[in-house]
Amino acid sequence: MKAPRVLIVEDEPAIAELLDVNLRHNGFQTVTAVDGRAAQREIDEVLPDLVLLDWMLPGDSGVMLAKRWRADERTRQVPIIMLTARSEEMDRVAGLDAGADDYLSKPFSTKELLARIRAVLRRRLPEQSSAVITLGELTLDGGTHRISHAGHPLKLGPTEFKLLQYLMHHPERVHSRSQLLDKVWGDHVFIEERTVDVHVKRLREAMGEAAAMLETVRGAGYRLSRGA
Ligand code: CA
Repeated sequence: MKAPRVLIVEDEPAIAELLDVNLRHNGFQTVTAVDGRAAQREIDEVLPDLVLLDWMLPGDSGVMLAKRWRADERTRQVPIIMLTARSEEMDRVAGLDAGADDYLSKPFSTKELLARIRAVLRRRLPEQSSAVITLGELTLDGGTHRISHAGHPLKLGPTEFKLLQYLMHHPERVHSRSQLLDKVWGDHVFIEERTVDVHVKRLREAMGEAAAMLETVRGAGYRLSRGA
């Protein structure tokens, strides 16, 4: 699996550096931003898998940023862990109310930070889990990577597998190409939207009779339905 990308929003260089080094050593990709504006630029370029967000920042506070990202369709699902020197219960509540998934009070250990990050990523990424999921006559096993339709095994490439897994976890909804790039490819910097079409075409070919479940919604994107 691709290393999860973590955006670190922290204005204190020593702390930012510490987080950066520790996360890299533990298999994450990292990007750092010193304030909300820099963080927004990073997010506009590449949607991270998780944001570590300091509460006290120059300019917009972490709470304001969390609220803004939660209100935006594109960033709504990105997990946020708030970091703060504050440890009052009321602050914790305010942080979680703003949409943070978790809250860590400074100082914290690397071990605790990693445990929280992994827990949040597990909660937020069911489509990357090992769950067995069924839609109509289609069954996908995330653990063994086996897929079958009406009892017949299907052979899919790794990207088609991820794409189908995501669609099966979010059926009956129209997904735009850019949403699929964000969710399945993890970012959309170097990949053009027509790449999605190429993989959808391959996926349909591999799905055989089940291909009818995967509709193109003109001008909007793609939808996987239970079918007739
Ligand atoms: Ca700070």
